[in-house]
Amino acid sequence: MPAHDVLIIGAGLAGQRAALAAAKAGASVAIMSKVHPVRSHSVAAAGGINAAISVDDDWRSHAFDTVKGSDFLGDQDAIEVMCSEAPDEVLHLEHIGVTFHRNDRGEMDLRAFGGASMKRTAYVADITGQAMLHVLYEQLMKHHETVERFEEWFTTSLLLDESGSCSGVIARDVRSGRMEAFTAKNVILACGGAGQAYKPTTNGLIVTGDGIALAYRSGAPLMDMEMVQYHPTCLVETGILITEGARGEGAHLLNANGERFMEKSAPNKMELASRDVVSRAEQTEINEGRGVGPGGAGISLDVTVVPRKRTLEALREIVNLGRDFAGVDITREPITIRPGQHYIMGGVKTDVDGRTPIEGLYAAGEVACVSVHGGNRLGANSLLDTLIFGRRAGEHAAARAASMPLPHLDGSAQLRRDVNAIDATIARPHQGRRVSEIKNDLGETMNRHAAVFRDEAGLQEALATIGRLREEADSAWIDDRGTVFNQDVLGALELGFLLDCAETTVVAALERRESRGAQFRTDFPERNDEEWLKHIDVSLGEEGPLVSYSPVTITQWQPEERKY
Ligand SMILES: Cc1cc2nc3c(=O)[nH]c(=O)nc-3n(C[C@H](O)[C@H](O)[C@H](O)COP(=O)(O)OP(=O)(O)OC[C@H]3O[C@@H](n4cnc5c(N)ncnc54)[C@H](O)[C@@H]3O)c2cc1C
Repeated sequence: MPAHDVLIIGAGLAGQRAALAAAKAGASVAIMSKVHPVRSHSVAAAGGINAAISVDDDWRSHAFDTVKGSDFLGDQDAIEVMCSEAPDEVLHLEHIGVTFHRNDRGEMDLRAFGGASMKRTAYVADITGQAMLHVLYEQLMKHHETVERFEEWFTTSLLLDESGSCSGVIARDVRSGRMEAFTAKNVILACGGAGQAYKPTTNGLIVTGDGIALAYRSGAPLMDMEMVQYHPTCLVETGILITEGARGEGAHLLNANGERFMEKSAPNKMELASRDVVSRAEQTEINEGRGVGPGGAGISLDVTVVPRKRTLEALREIVNLGRDFAGVDITREPITIRPGQHYIMGGVKTDVDGRTPIEGLYAAGEVACVSVHGGNRLGANSLLDTLIFGRRAGEHAAARAASMPLPHLDGSAQLRRDVNAIDATIARPHQGRRVSEIKNDLGETMNRHAAVFRDEAGLQEALATIGRLREEADSAWIDDRGTVFNQDVLGALELGFLLDCAETTVVAALERRESRGAQFRTDFPERNDEEWLKHIDVSLGEEGPLVSYSPVTITQWQPEERKY
């Protein structure tokens, strides 16, 4: 049985940063990923990473923008940690080889991003995530003696000892189908978000909420699950993201009358208001008949106002995306976009060291909720979140490991259960529905009822549909009966994870009877600090999701009306 001080599930930016920090602190580390690490979804991150690097900036200004962006639901102690540690973290990245864009003076260039009071987003053209992920992977190679890599291994469950502490995982080697129990003094979940609960989404097929569901099923509470971010600029047909960097460079949003409609809801920040505000404004234009494109279902994003040379230099990836996926040369004509599911602010509840309420279990990155994003994440704050809290979780877990012996754990019973469950799924008769059909229905349901605008009736309908889909998933069949790279059976497991994430999202959205950040309830259109300035936590009870509340930490910024 493999045994380590720190076992990290997930090799995106959060996982790799955690691995490097734990290894540097002297721990024996294993990092596991269901895909090759550089295929982790962090590779898709485009626009950049925030840090108050400029001499004219101050981390407190970054922190206040983040608090305001969160609609005052973010925990200010965690936001202070993230923003104050940001400049050193970004400079560290540069020192280890990330080729951030530089300006004519040779300094690190910074671009404007939504909800920020000044330019503070460092970037590598519009492939920032890719540049960062590859550099971190290079560093992991350097630490090959202390960091063991389990690439293309899929975690199926967490192992808890008799005292309830997390002491390992069960995982399946995707290449061979072999299952194994892993022992660890600490497990860090860095499994990313759950965007595939929606259709369409900007998130890749692998973003299926595994870590959130694994923790939830083991008794860890989830927090802020109702807060789901819709990004304002996604291609109408496919949901593919056009980075906020486009608006950061000056692109305009126009309705069918050619009006820059953001004047109405954000006269100061215009297109660079926070994402929840811009998405709502776009959806309102579409709903009120001022949309563009087929069925008036879109909005025009006009990048032609940005100098062509600059677009080709700083936004080259979206030039390719526009051409390949919409047949549009964005340097010459507007492209049609609309709001689309992009990010989940909620996740496994942690403290600022990544600790969950389960001893020995940590979480960092999009899987976690610390909560620095509260009701709405500012663009370019997620990459920062993955690095700061990935590092802190790695350091804390390594320190904890130094003071304890390896747990003596017999994972054989859980291993048998997981093997049997997978065998039973593979053996299901070809009756009932396919996994892919159920997933499709789930995504469309969430996109209809748990989107930019929500209400009680729609959310109740979503909950009922999720219940029905759960029953169907229990007997859903798959084609592949083999063991080698059986992605089909993993898809069935992922569907179960997605259903947990969707259910907790809808339960929390029903519970929050107010509008704040990304949650806009048309039946409760006002923010109500008196009753709802609190986090909604969801845990798994005997009968299903159980709701409780936890306070929002306020240090220096009292809630006020949010205007852009
Ligand atoms: C198109 C796009 C553009 C974006 N642009 C930006 C941006 O410019 N700036 C910004 O701040 N944010 C951006 N974001 C958000 C940001 O990229 C993500 O929130 C962040 O990269 C998530 O990193 P992570 O390390 O938490 O997870 P991921 O990078 O998603 O990694 C998850 C890891 O977990 C592994 N895993 C999952 N389940 C299992 C399992 N069961 N067993 C084993 N391994 C598992 C995966 O293999 C993977 O290695 C963007 C997001 C998208 C979708």
